[in-house]
Amino acid sequence: MIRFEDILDKVESYKPSFDEELLQKAYIFSALEHRGQVRSSGEPYLVHPLNVAYILADMRLDETSIAVGLLHDVLEDTLTTKEKLEELFGEEIADLVDGVTKISRYAYVSKEEQQAETFRKMLLAMVSDLRVVLVKLADRLHNMRTLQFLAEERRQSIAKETMEIYAPIANRLGMGKVKSELEDLAFRYMHPREFEELNEAVNEKMKGSGDIVDRIRTTLDGKMKENAIDADVHGRVKSIYSIYQKLRRQETDIGQVYDYLAFRIITPTMKDCYASLGIIHQMWRPVPGRIKDYIAMPKPNFYQSLHTTVVADQGQPFEVQIRTREMDLIAEQGIAAHWKYKEGRLAASRDDSNFLWLRQLVEWQHEIKDPRDFMNSLKIDLYPDEVYTFTPKGDVFAFPRGATPLDFAYRIHTDVGHRCGGARVNGKLVSLRTALKNGDIVQIMTGPNQTPSGEWISQVVTSRARHKIRHWLNTEQKNRSIELGRKLIEKEAKRHKVQIRKLVAENALDGVLSEYGLARLDDLYADVGYGKISARSILERFAPARDKEKEPEVGVIQQAVRRIFPFTGPQSIKVRGYDDLMTYLAKCCTPLPGEQIVGYVTRGKGVAVHSANCPNVRNLMFNPDREIAVEWADQRAAQFSVELDILMDDRQGILARVISTIANLKTNIRQMDTRTGEGKATVEMVLEISDLKHLEKVVRAVSGIEGVAQVARKYNTRQATA
Ligand code: MN
Repeated sequence: MIRFEDILDKVESYKPSFDEELLQKAYIFSALEHRGQVRSSGEPYLVHPLNVAYILADMRLDETSIAVGLLHDVLEDTLTTKEKLEELFGEEIADLVDGVTKISRYAYVSKEEQQAETFRKMLLAMVSDLRVVLVKLADRLHNMRTLQFLAEERRQSIAKETMEIYAPIANRLGMGKVKSELEDLAFRYMHPREFEELNEAVNEKMKGSGDIVDRIRTTLDGKMKENAIDADVHGRVKSIYSIYQKLRRQETDIGQVYDYLAFRIITPTMKDCYASLGIIHQMWRPVPGRIKDYIAMPKPNFYQSLHTTVVADQGQPFEVQIRTREMDLIAEQGIAAHWKYKEGRLAASRDDSNFLWLRQLVEWQHEIKDPRDFMNSLKIDLYPDEVYTFTPKGDVFAFPRGATPLDFAYRIHTDVGHRCGGARVNGKLVSLRTALKNGDIVQIMTGPNQTPSGEWISQVVTSRARHKIRHWLNTEQKNRSIELGRKLIEKEAKRHKVQIRKLVAENALDGVLSEYGLARLDDLYADVGYGKISARSILERFAPARDKEKEPEVGVIQQAVRRIFPFTGPQSIKVRGYDDLMTYLAKCCTPLPGEQIVGYVTRGKGVAVHSANCPNVRNLMFNPDREIAVEWADQRAAQFSVELDILMDDRQGILARVISTIANLKTNIRQMDTRTGEGKATVEMVLEISDLKHLEKVVRAVSGIEGVAQVARKYNTRQATA
């Protein structure tokens, strides 16, 4: 509980000769005006302005700012007028309180235009007097600290506004301390479950590692003393939100949290900073790529520090930030620290790049009429690593740089992502791997038969999209394998005259499950479907003994004959009596009806059907358990492309004869290519063939032509599919 005396003490600690009378007057006036009002927490309302004033004193601001903190809600929540304030406290304080009140009136709505409008007003207020924004940030900080007393809906909207507007502004003004507290609080309310999980995970780790913070801190402290550096060493657990962001960036799971400790070394001089870095790297191994020199290259908000991450002897990594006292003050308080050094009114000064940034924004907001454009330029500046894109209706989606239309589709809805077939950006059709740019208007096209493909994983940058695609692929792959495995086992069971249903009902397969370390029957089916376990090895143990003797040792799965017939569509194959998803014609050889074929169980895709002559088959047969016999079920009038290489003498009229021979056999030629040289000609032809007999007829007729030396079927060996 903050008392008025605490504020006075605090101010006195950094400004011994301050205007105590002004603060007394503001305090009494605020107490009178808010008399009888209570907060949602049930406390007297005055508690709030007192806390806001204390936060401002903590930023070491001037009496005027602190008085404004005490008075900041009187215009909004009491009957006091601005004239009355001016009369009692003067024009400056009245203007400042009015400025803070106006910002609050622009209620946050997630409609882009209105959000932009709020920003504009806020920026105007900021430029006229930055203290308005500092008071507003203090106000928001205390409201966030007491957010639990509000209704859920209000909580969500205030937390979101804090995360999207106030925290980035605090960051842009270099106020690191306020920024991380706002983010942590907002995160806690926006994602309570994630917050709890992470908090618990970190606490667990801390328990397990004893007093690790203290141990490392003491070691660091000792080393500094040994080297005669007069340093302050602090250790802490990083903010939950910063850990969360890191996990999300690296797509690691909460259980994998290891990088959660941070230490800070505050030294008297810049030289000491670099010396300390050297000492630390001598003690512990630095993690490559994690050494940052923000002293030589300050961040745009003036932040300066050395960063490194090292690994302690027990394998525990931790971050160390090294900076001077002055750099530390600026890192924590940003623009508020600047004010303190100047000991005067905050006004735009020429050499202060934070103000340049503000001034530029105000110029923009005059120039740019479309609030959406304004918003765009503003957000680029507040969050330089993100791109802002729009739906055709004008909703905004922010993405990390490099995001594609697929990321966009998954942001709209998981199903839109899964069925995404194409995209238009600013009205033009683009490829799904196009990187989106700021201001792009993106329209996603979906198709009912579209499904995700493995390639998509490499075409997205958001972890949400990647996760959804992976999940879909895994589920799909597993379902297919379960289905296939079940059928293989059923076939095998029939052959062994074992009733699989009975085995399942009697829990007879439990032994098999535990032998393979599997939990459920579906897992066993899946492993058989993947080709990890052979159905034969499972069923053999249940077969009557005499059966085993009778059977010759042929690949038993091969007996599980599947009947395949070509279906009208180029990719869809039906297996008689089975699911039509389970087989497909291998692209390398596209076997013809009538010709010898073999099936091969492919991981997660079902059964690939190859021509028995396909050169890829030989390579596949190193794992005979995955081979499966298949046969054509039906022959329909379907046409298949077959490529032939015909070697012939290069003489007049011969090509015409070949073509007319083929035409006489009622065969279409889809494509033809001829090469000649040294008296020979090679003709590559793609023919439409209905089955093996048809092909043989054509080959025989062409081979019989005088001058034709050889007719060979060509296999496309580059497109192996298993
Ligand atoms: Mn307030």
